[in-house]
Amino acid sequence: MPSRKFVGAHTSASGGVFNAVKNAQEIGAKAFALFTKNQKRWEAKPLDTLTIDKFQKALADSGILPKHILPHDSYLINLGHPDEEKLLKSRTAFIDELERCSQLGLDRLNFHPGSHLKEISEDECMDKISESINIALDKTSGVSAVIENTAGQGSNMGYTFEQLAQIIDKVEDKSRVGICIDTCHMFVAGYDIRTREAYDKTWNSFGDIVGFNYLMGMHINDSKPPLGSKKDRHHSLGEGEIGLDAFRFIMNDERMDDIPLVLETIDSDIWAQEIELLYSFQK
Ligand SMILES: [Zn+2]
Ligand SMILES: [Zn+2]
Repeated sequence: MPSRKFVGAHTSASGGVFNAVKNAQEIGAKAFALFTKNQKRWEAKPLDTLTIDKFQKALADSGILPKHILPHDSYLINLGHPDEEKLLKSRTAFIDELERCSQLGLDRLNFHPGSHLKEISEDECMDKISESINIALDKTSGVSAVIENTAGQGSNMGYTFEQLAQIIDKVEDKSRVGICIDTCHMFVAGYDIRTREAYDKTWNSFGDIVGFNYLMGMHINDSKPPLGSKKDRHHSLGEGEIGLDAFRFIMNDERMDDIPLVLETIDSDIWAQEIELLYSFQK
């Protein structure tokens, strides 16, 4: 039976988005993530027809399906910003990111929910995030907004399953909202996945509180800091505090079938080996 798991990494799109496809193929990836513009800048020139054609040609040649690609938005965007003007700037940039995905023929965009910057309450911040998603979905089509769980560092929202569910609850079009679970963020936010028992408890709670129907991607990372530390620092698989068993469980868990499973581990030189290692875990 062919594998139902689609593993890859966040590859570089330097020189053009089509290069992310080539870089994914070179490491044996069946999925990948990319930035469709410079993630540290607000402005970007629109995608031109030649770039879009080259991306789609590269994708068709690679055999990787759009649903196994998880683009990531700019780090500058804060959809829960307490300041109205800055919130508007983020919302405009987010809509542009969704449109870029749509132009490339992609169906999902991964983003960090937002931060209250200690100026508004957590609930107010989450309301703003839901409202931002509603506005963006209303102005675009075909691309789902995929909320990433966070480590709980600083004033970032989305570090508990309850918070993710609360944000989704106020999204009007639930067919176009999803969740990306980052294993490092989950772990440092206090969700243990290291033993069979802990893994089952954590994921069953995710199923109860959020629901697996929303799971549209994962970031596969080990963690440098310990459980519950709320510090976002990734590590190579098996080198950190999580250890390999959790990743073995994931590779044999059918609830993670058919979604992009994307490495954001710290040493890109060993991504090919990490992908191979993950596939070797399958029974
Ligand atoms: Zn991540
Ligand atoms: Zn992270």
